Amino acid sequence: MSDLVLFWHRRDLRISDNIGLAEARRRSQKVVGVFCLDPNILSRDDVAPARVTYLIGNLQELQQRYRAAGSQLLVLKTEPNRGIPALAEALNATAVFWNQDVEPYSRERDRTVAAALREKGVEVCHFWDQLLHAPKDITTGAGQPYTVYTPFWRNWSRKPKADPYETLQGAVGLTDPEQKIAQQASAIELPTAKDLGFVWHEDLFVAPGEKTAQELLEAFCDRAISEYGEQRNFPATPGTSHLSAPLKFGVIGIRTVWAATLAALENTRSDEARDGIQTWQQELAWREFYQHVMYFFPELADGPYREPFKAFPWDNQPEHFQAWCEGRTGYPIVDAAMRQLNEIGWMHNRCRMIVASFLTKDLLIDWRWGEKYFMQNLIDGDLSANNGGWQWSASSGMDPKPLRIFNPASQAKKFDPDAEYIRKWLPELRNIETADLISGNIAVEERDRCGYPTPIVDHNQQQKRFKERFQQQKGKKTKE
Ligand SMILES: Cc1cc2nc3c(=O)[nH]c(=O)nc-3n(C[C@H](O)[C@H](O)[C@H](O)COP(=O)(O)OP(=O)(O)OC[C@H]3O[C@@H](n4cnc5c(N)ncnc54)[C@H](O)[C@@H]3O)c2cc1C
Repeated sequence: MSDLVLFWHRRDLRISDNIGLAEARRRSQKVVGVFCLDPNILSRDDVAPARVTYLIGNLQELQQRYRAAGSQLLVLKTEPNRGIPALAEALNATAVFWNQDVEPYSRERDRTVAAALREKGVEVCHFWDQLLHAPKDITTGAGQPYTVYTPFWRNWSRKPKADPYETLQGAVGLTDPEQKIAQQASAIELPTAKDLGFVWHEDLFVAPGEKTAQELLEAFCDRAISEYGEQRNFPATPGTSHLSAPLKFGVIGIRTVWAATLAALENTRSDEARDGIQTWQQELAWREFYQHVMYFFPELADGPYREPFKAFPWDNQPEHFQAWCEGRTGYPIVDAAMRQLNEIGWMHNRCRMIVASFLTKDLLIDWRWGEKYFMQNLIDGDLSANNGGWQWSASSGMDPKPLRIFNPASQAKKFDPDAEYIRKWLPELRNIETADLISGNIAVEERDRCGYPTPIVDHNQQQKRFKERFQQQKGKKTKE
């Protein structure tokens, strides 16, 4: 009989193209999956109900996939540093395999779990799976981490990429007596999101499961990818892949995604389509860039990278923050985007940039408030991508251009020229003239009639205030 190897799933909720799992299967036929519902994560105050609902749906599907492959996925609801070693010991597992992560909490957790396992004589094997290139594989000529995207992309895009890994099959699971032992070692039935205290009323923006993720990828690569370069900025158009939640939870393998882009490139002769595909590849590289910087600069998770923002005098007015959260700032494009987030747990990238600029540069509110609100609501909420996006928008991050300020009206004019997106998410304004929806210059009587607020701040004044404060902060630093 083969030795038992446990494979600990975290953000790789799939049996296909999963490096650690494929390696575990190579080591032994008797591979059993385990997922730990970590109370340290689930009790945080930035967990989105949509995200937990999507997570649970994926675990349900993963359990079915394990069964079809001949094995089981066990579920624990304990702190991993106690639950995983106790389970491995109870089942007499010889090794525990997993895929590594970049986030500070996960790295610390993994160190503790690995130490506890080794103490019990259980072997630990880990792999890099969620990235096409592990952090230490992409560095400057001097061996330093990149802090700017463009040279990172140049280096990253030139490196050869691995092909997708084989899908788990022909595995052997626990015997009935072993399953009883697992239960005694705290393996439980998979709870619902509601059992865990998370209620999501809407349909999920992306349905769970590997099959859905694969279908999304195929549909996108068949059509929209070739026009991605032009269409990706228009929030009323379904011009992007909608793969962010599957990628956050690893419901699809990144090598599978990359291989699909290569096949799309091979199948096209048009320069325009080629540009679209390459632009999408660059977005995948942004995802990796932000994960690499989180790995090398974990302090980003707690605060700004740039000096002028370390003690920035934000206004932080609670009533302004509340209006922003509720989509009641009086700026139609900003409010439409926030209503989209609140209603479906996802927001178009262009709008994420617009609302983030508005919160920080117009309302002068600390970007960390917005970062947290996004995490509390996004189905794809991911520390590295979210923190990277917020620090980019606030100008506090790793970006050589410090003062990027979006004018809501110019953004709407350029990217929602027919106000289709605004009307969709602000139905109370559907009869207002397009030009007025875009400029935001809606007459007071019209606003009153629609129950829509007057602008809570003046964009031109606020951006001047932001620039003044920024200059003061920079000056302070120079004098010190
Ligand atoms: C303030 C702000 C917060 C953000 N928060 C998150 C977040 O919590 N989780 C998240 O996955 N993305 C985040 N993003 C990035 C981006 O908005 C989303 O990845 C994208 O909108 C998801 O839609 P899509 O899957 O259709 O993307 P596509 O345009 O199809 O892109 C393909 C994939 O590339 C990755 N990607 C694309 N753009 C970025 C980017 N700028 N940074 C990192 N990865 C990127 C995502 O995995 C995405 O699924 C944020 C951006 C901003 C400006």
